[in-house]
Amino acid sequence: MNGLMMDQPLLISSLLTHAERHHGEQQIVSRRVEGDVHRYTYRDMGQRVRRLANALAARGIEQGERVATLAWNGYRHMELYYAVSGSGAVLHTLNPRLHPDQVVWIADHAEDEILFFDLTFLPLIEAIASRVSTIKAFVVMTDRAHMPASSKVPNLLCYEDLIDDHTPDFEWPVFDEKAASSLCYTSGTTGNPKGALYSHRSTMLHTYAAALPDALNCSAKDVILPVVPMFHVNAWGLPYIACMVGAKLVFPGPWLDGKSLHDLFEAEGVTVSAGVPTVWQGLLAHVESNDLHFSTMRRTIIGGSACPPAMMRAFQERYDVQVLHAWGMTELSPVGTVCTLKPCHQTLSAAERLAIQSKQGRSVFGIDMKIVGEDGAELPHDGKTAGELMVRGAWVISNYFKGEGAGPLVNGWFPTGDVSTIDADGFMQITDRSKDVIKSGGEWIGSIDLENIAMAHPAVEMAACIAARHPKWDERPLLIVVKKSGQELTRDELIKFYDGRIAKWWTPDDVVFVDRIPLGATGKVQKNLLRDAHGDHLMANSGSRFA
Ligand code: ADP
Repeated sequence: MNGLMMDQPLLISSLLTHAERHHGEQQIVSRRVEGDVHRYTYRDMGQRVRRLANALAARGIEQGERVATLAWNGYRHMELYYAVSGSGAVLHTLNPRLHPDQVVWIADHAEDEILFFDLTFLPLIEAIASRVSTIKAFVVMTDRAHMPASSKVPNLLCYEDLIDDHTPDFEWPVFDEKAASSLCYTSGTTGNPKGALYSHRSTMLHTYAAALPDALNCSAKDVILPVVPMFHVNAWGLPYIACMVGAKLVFPGPWLDGKSLHDLFEAEGVTVSAGVPTVWQGLLAHVESNDLHFSTMRRTIIGGSACPPAMMRAFQERYDVQVLHAWGMTELSPVGTVCTLKPCHQTLSAAERLAIQSKQGRSVFGIDMKIVGEDGAELPHDGKTAGELMVRGAWVISNYFKGEGAGPLVNGWFPTGDVSTIDADGFMQITDRSKDVIKSGGEWIGSIDLENIAMAHPAVEMAACIAARHPKWDERPLLIVVKKSGQELTRDELIKFYDGRIAKWWTPDDVVFVDRIPLGATGKVQKNLLRDAHGDHLMANSGSRFA
């Protein structure tokens, strides 16, 4: 017997309709590529999104067809999120930090029909326009006054003209909630990038779950500033969450340096922000060196890479900003776990609480997880035993876009490629990417722990730990370190810093000081490049203390 409830499919357009009708006066503020600050309401946005949906239809964009963007976080990008998916087409957010060859490969693979881009990316568009095979039109996300002239890309279209040419009368189509809504490619550090194709249903369920108090904890009282780009896993879902809860949204555009972010936090009363650890380093450095504070920001969501405990301490103890450590993947839309404490942790000391907060957290309802050994057998949740993390849930991919063969799942679970522990309270802690694990004499050493210790040293700006080949132990940990400017630090001082902080045999064998550590298109350390450059360091310097 069926229940007697309305049969409403879960569609992304309903988020916008809700924000327009029930939070119409709420603001969206954007620092624009054009240099000024733009401000309007969800009600204004709704009008423009429907005009844009008419413009897409007039250009012949059909349901299921891919519409690409190369854009910063801003209101026009937000309009595309809703106009494209709401119409039943698929929003494909391209990552402008990728090499032009990769952008061409991904756009061709996705068979994008039309590409919308911010003015900043004209040089990239000029580099790829004649090489992409399916894109029929390029639209500059600006007004007529700022339209560039390009000899390399004829017939550039103007975003504001497209909108002006159409009325806001548009009925959002109703279709199957399993229809594709957006497409995001993994950065492809190994092999070609792979497309995660989200559906309306998966996106809506992810939005409900990610907004919950024990997850990203967003409400109508919040002013949300996503630093994480809208071209990286839908800015972790915040453009959808903001409409669902009716929060004010603040977009930083291309200005992601510490000063620009801090100015915007203060000017707009931002209460919650989100980004990868590397972005927050710049912000903290700016705030520290100028003796500033945060008047309204009280929470920051940090994920994408492990958040060093030293950074957590700085935010929480010095600036009264609570860190929400989160773990996710492109393949998970992306939120999988968030580290919010349970009642049993309230009586712990600050140091004990910090140790738990350093974990990546517990599963958000909708994501089930387990760890398995090399034989596939499930491992205990004792907080010590590490194995490959497997997940399943309604917003986890079942296959990659145009995936061939049997697909990535193993008995219905998605193998994340992350190595982790899970403790008895359900808190998961990543020790490594499986491809970055250090195997010393047959035992695993987790590089993230070693990096966190180095990052706690006051003279260290950034640290990465890699597996370096070793004549006796196969692999040993090697630390690659960028010193803070003006600070002195020797190899021996840093190695000594590990005494008492970690099992002795985990201590890195050596330290290589460098000027910079290479970051990939999503802000993660490119350990493959570091291994290429320094992988033989210990073979040449075989003075290992463990040899
Ligand atoms: P990419 O496109 O680079 O794969 P993703 O955002 O999909 O970008 O990367 C997912 C991976 O990032 C995870 O599998 C994990 O290795 C890493 N990651 C994400 N969040 C965290 C975190 N809080 N701590 C440690 N690693 C993380």
